[in-house]
Parts: sequence; structure tokens; C-alpha cells
Amino acid sequence: MKEELIALKSELDELLGSIDDLTEINSLRVKFLGKKGKLTALMKKMGELPPVERPVIGQLVNRIKEEMEFAIEEKIKTIKEQIKKEKIEKEKIDVTVPTKVILGHRHPLTIVLNEVINFFYGLGYEVVEGPEVEWDYYNFEALNIPKDHPARDLQDTFYITEDILLRTHTSPVQIRTMEKSKPPIKVIVPGRVYRSDAVDATHSPVFHQVEGLVVGESVTMADLKGTLTAFAKAIFGEERKTRFRPSFFPFTEPSAEMDISCISCNGIGCRLCSYTGWIEILGCGMVHPNVIKNGGYDPEKVSGFAFGMGLERIALLKYNIDDMRLLFENDLRFLSQF
Ligand SMILES: [Zn+2]
Repeated sequence: MKEELIALKSELDELLGSIDDLTEINSLRVKFLGKKGKLTALMKKMGELPPVERPVIGQLVNRIKEEMEFAIEEKIKTIKEQIKKEKIEKEKIDVTVPTKVILGHRHPLTIVLNEVINFFYGLGYEVVEGPEVEWDYYNFEALNIPKDHPARDLQDTFYITEDILLRTHTSPVQIRTMEKSKPPIKVIVPGRVYRSDAVDATHSPVFHQVEGLVVGESVTMADLKGTLTAFAKAIFGEERKTRFRPSFFPFTEPSAEMDISCISCNGIGCRLCSYTGWIEILGCGMVHPNVIKNGGYDPEKVSGFAFGMGLERIALLKYNIDDMRLLFENDLRFLSQF
């Protein structure tokens, strides 16, 4: 009987070696270890043995049974691992296979904004941002724009309540920055602004500005001119000439507009520059003492300059685009050119 038990185990081992399927294993388990299986059949013969041999054979039966169960469990594990390995192999992606990839493009406004930011980073400016939904106080009052000023015209401004509006410029961040920090300050403020304008080739109810503010001891108009001239050359080319024309903004005194020599005709005169040779690109000036005061500083001790430009305008000029709407329509045929 001992030999029969050992032979049974060897038979199972041999069969296990030749299969690789979980359902086959189950039928093997039934065939060898089930109620009507081969081992049970052998165990029934134990009754025929002399009583002295029964405990020894009994032990052997138990051992062989355990070994067979163990062998089956091990085989199941091996098969499962094999299946997992094959699955991973099948799902593996070969990233080195050549394929046709359509690359995205940066939006022209993002390209220009990055150039502007990089220029001012180089001069040690910090980039700050402010809320687009703004208090009337920050958008107007604190910037020296009193209640009866034409810039508050209801037709230009999206009011939400009497005191809350969509900011019409990035300038409120001037006050917010001064309130939060001590001089010296050197910041640029990119962001979306809102005006109640109908959409056409040069207007949009939503557009982008980049504001700049420098405040410190003895900051002068010469600092402003030097900074903005270097900026114009960095963005529009070293050969650009600049000029500053007197202007008026409530929050700067004196105020100016900066022109660059026409990028299309180089100053000779053409349709783009209305035959003047010059193109206006931004507004600027020395920060008004009232604004310095509203920011919490003493205008006797510090001075500053500020500037603001429309990012769309800079992009249109730089890329020679004649319609602002192209920047917002997201037509891929247009965008893929940048
Ligand atoms: Zn021109």
C-alpha cells in the first residue's frame, strides 16, 4: 500500500507538469483528492491491513495528502503568475516606436506675455496678481479717480453692485501691492480686464493688460524712460526709436504715452502708423502723490513710476496681425503659425 501511495503522488506530479490551465487543475484535484477520487479509494483499503500497520500507513496517507494539496496550490500560483506576466507583456507600450505626433503651440498672447515677463524678471521685478472682481475703491477711488470722473462712466464699466465691479484695468493692484509691502517695490501685474465695449477689430469686452509699478527713494522720470526704452527695444528690436508724449491719467503726474518708431515703415510713414512714423504702445507716468498716500506711503519720502500696456496690442504689432478677434477665436489654422 505504501508503494501505491507513493506511485499516486508521482502520477499527480507528472500530470501537473504537463498542464498550464486553471480548469484542468481543478479536474485533477477532483480526480485525486475528491470524495470519489483515487486517494479516497486507496484509503478505503486501509481496513484490509493488519491493525499494527494501520497507524504507520495512516500517517503516510496524511503526509501524501498534504503534499498533493501543496503541489496543486503551488501549480495554481505558478499559472496565475504566468498569466499576469503575459498580460503585462501584452499591455507594454513601446515608447520608442516612431509615430506621427501633432505638437501643440503656445498661444501668441502667452508667447508675448512670457517675453514681457522675462524682460522685467531680468531687471529684478516680481510678478503679482490681483482680483478681477474688484471694489470700486481700488479700481477708482484710491487711484485718484473721484466720483464724477468720466472714467467711471457706467457705459464703460461692468458694475456688479454699486461698490463692486469687474476691474477696468490692472492698476488697482498698485494700491493692493503698496498696502501689503514696504518700499522699495518693483512689480509687474499681468491680468484680464473688462470694459463694456462691443467686439471689433481693435476692441473686446475682455482683454489683457500688463501693469508695472516701481516705488522707492528718489525714483525719477529718467528711470521710467530708461526702463521703458530698453523694454521697447527688447520686444520690438534694437533698432526701435522711442518718444514720450505728454498725456493725462488721473493716477500719474506727469503722465506720458510712449511711441515706438513704426515697425512697418521704420518711421517713414505708412498706413499702419497713419503716416506719422510713430505707433503708441503704452501709457505711463510718475505715480500721483495721492496714489502714493492711498497706498500707505509718504509722498515726501518716496516716489515712483507706473506704466500699463494692452497685451493684445503688443501681440498684434509684434506679429503684424490686423484684427484682434483672431486672438480669441482659437482657429487652429491661425494659432499653428506661431
Ligand atoms: Zn509706418
